[in-house]
Amino acid sequence: MQTSLEKLRKFFRLEHENGYANTAIIGGLAEMLNFWEGEARADNINEEVIQAVVQRLRSYDGLSPQSRADALKGLWKRIGDAYPEAQQKPKAPSQVEGRQEPRPHPQNQSQPKSESEPRKESHPQHQQHHEQRQRPPAQPRSESVAGARHSSTPAALDAKLTVLQGVGPKNAETFAKLGMYTLGDMLYYYPRRYDDYSQLKPIKELFYGEQVTVIGTIDSVHTRPIRGGKASIVEVIISDGTGGLRLSYFNQPWLANRFKQGNAISVSGKVDQYLGRLVMNSPDWESVEVENLHTNRIVPIYPLAERITQKWLRNVMKQVVEYFAPAVVDSIPESVRNAARVMPLGEALLQVHFPSSQEKLKAARERLAFDEIFYLQMGVLRQRRDWQSVDARRFVLSDGQLDSLKTSLPFTLTSAQERAIADIRADLDSGKPMNRLLQGDVGSGKTVVAALAAAVITSNNAPPAETSQAAIMAPTSILAEQHYRNFTNLLKGILNPEEIRLLVGDTPESEKEQIRAGLADGSIKIVIGTHAVIEGPVQFKDLQLAVIDEQHRFGVEQRAELRSKGTNPHLLVMTATPIPRSLALTLYGDLDLSIMDEMPAGRIPINTFVLRPQERERTFTLLRGQIKDGKQAFIIYPLIEESEKIEARAAVDDYETLSKEVFPDLKLGLLHGKMRPAEKDETMLKFRDKQYNILVSTTVVEVGVDVPNATVMLIEGADRFGLAQLHQLRGRVGRGADQSYCLLIPTREDATENERLQIMAESNDGFVLAEKDLQIRGPGEFLGTRQAGFANSLRMASITDVKLIEKARREAQAVFEKDADLSQPEHKLLAESLGRFWGEGKGDVS
Ligand code: ADP
Ligand code: MG
Repeated sequence: MQTSLEKLRKFFRLEHENGYANTAIIGGLAEMLNFWEGEARADNINEEVIQAVVQRLRSYDGLSPQSRADALKGLWKRIGDAYPEAQQKPKAPSQVEGRQEPRPHPQNQSQPKSESEPRKESHPQHQQHHEQRQRPPAQPRSESVAGARHSSTPAALDAKLTVLQGVGPKNAETFAKLGMYTLGDMLYYYPRRYDDYSQLKPIKELFYGEQVTVIGTIDSVHTRPIRGGKASIVEVIISDGTGGLRLSYFNQPWLANRFKQGNAISVSGKVDQYLGRLVMNSPDWESVEVENLHTNRIVPIYPLAERITQKWLRNVMKQVVEYFAPAVVDSIPESVRNAARVMPLGEALLQVHFPSSQEKLKAARERLAFDEIFYLQMGVLRQRRDWQSVDARRFVLSDGQLDSLKTSLPFTLTSAQERAIADIRADLDSGKPMNRLLQGDVGSGKTVVAALAAAVITSNNAPPAETSQAAIMAPTSILAEQHYRNFTNLLKGILNPEEIRLLVGDTPESEKEQIRAGLADGSIKIVIGTHAVIEGPVQFKDLQLAVIDEQHRFGVEQRAELRSKGTNPHLLVMTATPIPRSLALTLYGDLDLSIMDEMPAGRIPINTFVLRPQERERTFTLLRGQIKDGKQAFIIYPLIEESEKIEARAAVDDYETLSKEVFPDLKLGLLHGKMRPAEKDETMLKFRDKQYNILVSTTVVEVGVDVPNATVMLIEGADRFGLAQLHQLRGRVGRGADQSYCLLIPTREDATENERLQIMAESNDGFVLAEKDLQIRGPGEFLGTRQAGFANSLRMASITDVKLIEKARREAQAVFEKDADLSQPEHKLLAESLGRFWGEGKGDVS
């Protein structure tokens, strides 16, 4: 058998064994086309068979497993018909499963990938569309809906989609899958992208391999029978005045009737080469409505679901948008709109679907984005007001007390720390619960600020404060333990050791019980721990301060839970995730913000280098030099997969190699996520106590760990990390008085990637890096649960658009200052929309 067919058989067989999961080849079966086509031609396989294989494998990924099975079986049968020797043993999938013809399936390759209307001769599922075409779809079915057209009541927008002519329960179901239940939902179902017909590429400028959209007029349509009439190729020649292009569609004979000479179509796909000429094989196509070309040069492309086509949806959309968008009530008061200079809502909705120009589209998007941020901001302002509407206990700290606290510290506070402490001191004395976000780059010294706050709460001996307690929650037990040591040190003169306790998952049950009892009767004043602190059975006698460290590691619920352990306790959340200020104010508008933008004195900036993988030896030399000087080093390996098991294995392997082959003379410790918390702590402690020269670790050390004697941070696979995360890792060194080094080794030598890493070498400023990260990777990547959640509700707004954010924030603030309850008549609509925006179940956004 020809080797190309042999290969095919092998992969098909593998695919069959894998349950048609498209895993026989890494990246999917279509990947094999890169080499297979050439090999098949070299084997003299006939062109029809080659085309059939290309066709099916190219669309293979989009098929259901059942259709995939059908496709491969059908394909194999066809190959068998042309090359009987291929059907001989060893068994091919078709023989395993019986030799049936592939069942026609709406989703498989027997359908063109066209986004055009369903075909006449197609399957029953498409029947509906034909009915729909008989009448314009968006005529309201009932008088009452029609009557709502210009009545300015949003009620019509709440109407179910079945009020549309041509949308029955079946289609309504499809719409529901796309998140559209009402007419209003349709208006807010934004296009995924636009085809701008004013920006098309002329055919004569196409080149091989390019992915393009072109428009042309059909010159000719030919159907060539192949394989003795068992299959066929439809060949279409289109031209646009600059040149001609051949399109071929394998074995889709019905297409011949759908391509009409003289009609204009737009085709999108990859430009291929055949016998020296440029061609496109089975490109997506769509007949161009002349109206689109001339009047709507920018055409929306919507995200689709099964059973509806782009053209059909666009038609329904057009009817709905043109009919209802003008009737949409603009809830943003006119004064705000004027001040913000944004487009009216109705026009924005119209333009976002059917833009009349790129400028209008931009303005429309800006208006819709404005609304999102505006509502978001109104919501956080309201949340903040709700929090402030309750009373909290006052804790007064005299200057004398503050001074004596400060003198007990082993260092002088930075002025940024001083400012943060002054903010917190004022909050605690305000009679309202503190809700403060303390943001400071890694190493800026947030812990001591939190410790002072805890000292204020727990050392205040005037009744009724004598019972008050503080809880500090950290994301890992290593970090909790570190805080525990720091706190006991810092508060030595104020509390007895047994008044401060550590509670982590690993704490022995008997000790846990003891701690729970102590918290319940008030004999323990400060508890420091992981989420174990908020676990059900933990009750406080009188929790007055909740501190959450590295808050981005926690979910909204966990913060709410900790707060709920007390009655209106003061809340301090700390983060090293450096978010630009405007963004922080928007995402955390409900919190007051203290920024610590200053490092403790005497820190020497870390030297950062990006190295090529081959230069690893050089890093080892540097590392050895440092260790000779009595310093220590981290070597970090990336989390290869989401799986901790794999992560652990990779770390263990690397650890073995490093300790046996590279540094047999040194002491290496190993830390990874699969270890028990107690083991992790033990390793960390040993490292801190200099029992290891090198700590080999996964990213579990990312958060907050403090080992001042470590001067080298070597990061392997650096390209797998975001800049913000690399910065966090880098922050593990440079904490002592000596020069530290951060060495970044990417997996591969990749120019663009290394350019990104180079930013690390250029800046030691977490804020700068965060901005870059935002630009490069988008918000979802580095923001935590809460922020990502918000970012998801922002469908149009980009949180990198600082100008827009500031504008929307300003306007929201102005409205809030005038009418916080939105009780004035001109804010009635706004109040309703706000309710809708925040919907149900948003709950505590702390
Ligand atoms: P982070 O803000 O990352 O949580 P830490 O609170 O862990 O930072 O502090 C980092 C290190 O800096 C610790 O070793 C801490 O003792 C030290 N430190 C904090 N404040 C000062 C200061 N004002 N002067 C000198 N060292 C300080
Ligand atoms: Mg910290």
